[in-house]
Amino acid sequence: MGRKVLPQYGDVDPVTGLYSKTAFLSILSDQFQDSLQPFPRAILSMEFDDLSRFNESFGYEIDDLLLQKLAARLRTCLRNELFAKAGTYRFAIATDYHEEKRLKRLAETIVTALREPFNIEGTMFYITVTIGIAVVTESVVSAKMLLKHAESAMKQLQKDGTNHIGFFTPTDEKHLMTELKLLKDIPGAIDRGEFYLLYQPQFYADKGCYAGAEVLIRWQHPQFGEISPERFIPLAEKSGMIVPLTVFILIETAKMFKKLDTVGMRHFTLSVNVPASVLLEQSFLETVAFVQQMYGLPKGRVIFEIMEETIPENMDGFVTLLKRLKEMGMGIAIDDFGTGHTSLHYLMRFPADVLKVDRSFVRNIHTDKKLFLLFRAINDMAKALHMKIVAEGVEERKEAEIIKSFGGIVVQGYYYSKPIDADALFALVQQACKGDL
Ligand code: C2E
Ligand code: CA
Ligand code: CA
Repeated sequence: MGRKVLPQYGDVDPVTGLYSKTAFLSILSDQFQDSLQPFPRAILSMEFDDLSRFNESFGYEIDDLLLQKLAARLRTCLRNELFAKAGTYRFAIATDYHEEKRLKRLAETIVTALREPFNIEGTMFYITVTIGIAVVTESVVSAKMLLKHAESAMKQLQKDGTNHIGFFTPTDEKHLMTELKLLKDIPGAIDRGEFYLLYQPQFYADKGCYAGAEVLIRWQHPQFGEISPERFIPLAEKSGMIVPLTVFILIETAKMFKKLDTVGMRHFTLSVNVPASVLLEQSFLETVAFVQQMYGLPKGRVIFEIMEETIPENMDGFVTLLKRLKEMGMGIAIDDFGTGHTSLHYLMRFPADVLKVDRSFVRNIHTDKKLFLLFRAINDMAKALHMKIVAEGVEERKEAEIIKSFGGIVVQGYYYSKPIDADALFALVQQACKGDL
């Protein structure tokens, strides 16, 4: 296929001896321009599912050995395809196959070859892989674009979690273009006032009064309409825009406190979602102090919700940060509790005031005995650690009744109210009860 020899392109992955992503793209870029020998005609992007758990449990040496063995086994499935290590646990294959049937067969051969476990120093490792495939079309203008398409197909499969092999489709292309546009639009959208906040009330189940609300952001995009935070928050995180966005949310929250005070709701708390990555940004705490000074973030009434899943495992520095936040009068909640990796030991040292129990423990608590027992265990544990519980996602009266029976729990969910704007909140909540959330 007239490929150039490697040294010209430098870059080789030291562990597997495979081409790096840079070398891979560099080789392909040359051949992409060659009208006599156009190559590649398709790229397969593959990632091994959850491989990082092996290096967490067995260390980097095993990780390296495993990658070497993986590369060797993959090679047995290939003819003369160009093969590269395109990320930590990601490989890429460029091929001159372009018929869907042949490409699918190649991917299936790989999936089958990996089914056999890997024996490394007596331990058996079982690997699964996800493979995204992109075929050259008229709109594909570079090797980089083709690889991006294959990776995007792969990521979509990982998200769906049903199939291990899939092709990049025009819908994916449209989705990718929208994603790119949204990413580009975020900075200007803050200035243009396209982001706004809604509030979802939090209710003391047994006292029968409102404790506060969770602040939830919305984006009214001029072209695409309302976009869910589940879509744009990850994009903002990826692009670094999450920091200015969080500062915007804090300032708007501070303004909301002023309004709450005007209508006499002086005990009402507001919980703000703050990703751990933002807290770890240098000088973020100074920014919080600045907002507090300039706009007012009343002590004891702001709660920072940090998603359990994002809390760093190396906790020392993080705990120091949280303690400083608490000194500034902010409360800390662990969000989506039960979905992440927090161990009991970790929890004991974690200076949280609130556990927000994920809705997967709440939904159907009235019919599922196991859920009930789990919730009871979490409640006992929270009490022992002097933490409050907020139960999320309460949708049914029967769920609410069970949770109320535990006593002292704050509930949030569609059963009480959907997220609403400030005026609707004032209309709903005449008076906040004196709580210690
Ligand atoms: P979250 O922090 O777990 O927020 C709760 C989500 O559950 C909200 O979705 C809320 O509308 C929804 N919800 C509330 N009650 C119920 C219920 O009874 N049933 C069901 N099925 N859902 C319920 P929303 O507003 O779409 O936000 C989704 C996620 O986006 C949030 O999950 C949070 O992770 C993120 N998010 C939202 N606003 C912000 C923000 O201001 N900053 C950051 N960093 N993330 C935000
Ligand atoms: Ca939250
Ligand atoms: Ca949550």
